[in-house]
Amino acid sequence: MKRNILLITAMAISNLINAQIPEGYEVAQWRGFSQAALTYSFDDGTPNQVPIAVPTLEKYGYRGTFNLVTDWVKDWSGWKSISDNGHEIASHTISHPYLDKMTAEQQTVELAKSKEIIERNVGKECITMVYPYCVRGIDSIVADYYISARICCESFSTPSPQNMFAIASRLVGTESKYLRTPYDFNVWAELAAKENGWCVYLIHGIDDDGGYSPIKSVDLDTHLKFVHDAEPIFWVGTFAEVSKYIIERNSLKISEKQQGEETEISVDVTAESKLTKFDCPITIKRRLPNGKGAIVTHNGKVVDSKIDDGCIIFDVVPGNTYLLVYDEGRMLLWTIFVVVGAILLILSAMRKRVGA
Ligand SMILES: [Zn+2]
Repeated sequence: MKRNILLITAMAISNLINAQIPEGYEVAQWRGFSQAALTYSFDDGTPNQVPIAVPTLEKYGYRGTFNLVTDWVKDWSGWKSISDNGHEIASHTISHPYLDKMTAEQQTVELAKSKEIIERNVGKECITMVYPYCVRGIDSIVADYYISARICCESFSTPSPQNMFAIASRLVGTESKYLRTPYDFNVWAELAAKENGWCVYLIHGIDDDGGYSPIKSVDLDTHLKFVHDAEPIFWVGTFAEVSKYIIERNSLKISEKQQGEETEISVDVTAESKLTKFDCPITIKRRLPNGKGAIVTHNGKVVDSKIDDGCIIFDVVPGNTYLLVYDEGRMLLWTIFVVVGAILLILSAMRKRVGA
């Protein structure tokens, strides 16, 4: 297991070296060719996170990562229900210790047991963690149980971080040097977009819930509205989603084969993990032959796609095969469909008027 993880780490830092992408393709740095990835990472399970922060995120269709100290959780029902709704429940250890002051055996217990408790209580995989007090332990132990981990370091990450077990984040709220107002939050996201980075907002207390360095929920709302209005500049993903995206993108393998008039596209990753399945959708772009339109199908169903500047853009899930169907006749069929529809509507309106 350790070897696999080391392999993944090596791949993650290799920045496309292990990716096998044929001519004519481009793999998006971030989902939807967004300029930056944003993650809202909530620590310590403070009382207002579930009732206030979650609905604020969901108002804009976003999901957050909630890092729990398992010994501090009295009731799992709220966490289970937000997990069922797509939020990530990640580990913040069992007792919030300084990992660097612990033996390797003690660190293993903190990391392994918290993962097990979370998985048992929410019924989903727990594959990322954040260090208490931002103090790192031994990376190779973390790698036995998690695909990535968060530190502080007040910065954002590059698209291919050097070390997936030391992902940067920046503290938000009253105790923060940099991120106290919605304006600060927005500026930081814009900076990350300029650098194609991954911004992780480190959040604790919400309103007056007793959590460390609180932020006002109304400020979070103002900021999220800004992010939402700026789409598609930003991609908001959970810590696990963005981690998987990086590992998949940097080890993506695309191959194609001609099937008569259609092109079969197979997508896979070379990265392997016993901790998770690499099934996070990755956005790709493929150049189209001159003047041709196309649609993409998967298992006989049409996949959402966009044609832009002679290319088709769509999301793929590693381990799957897609069919690119060139369709010069599609526009003609579509036009006929619209014209016939309009005629029918006019006829029915005229009939109604005659009837009246
Ligand atoms: Zn903490």
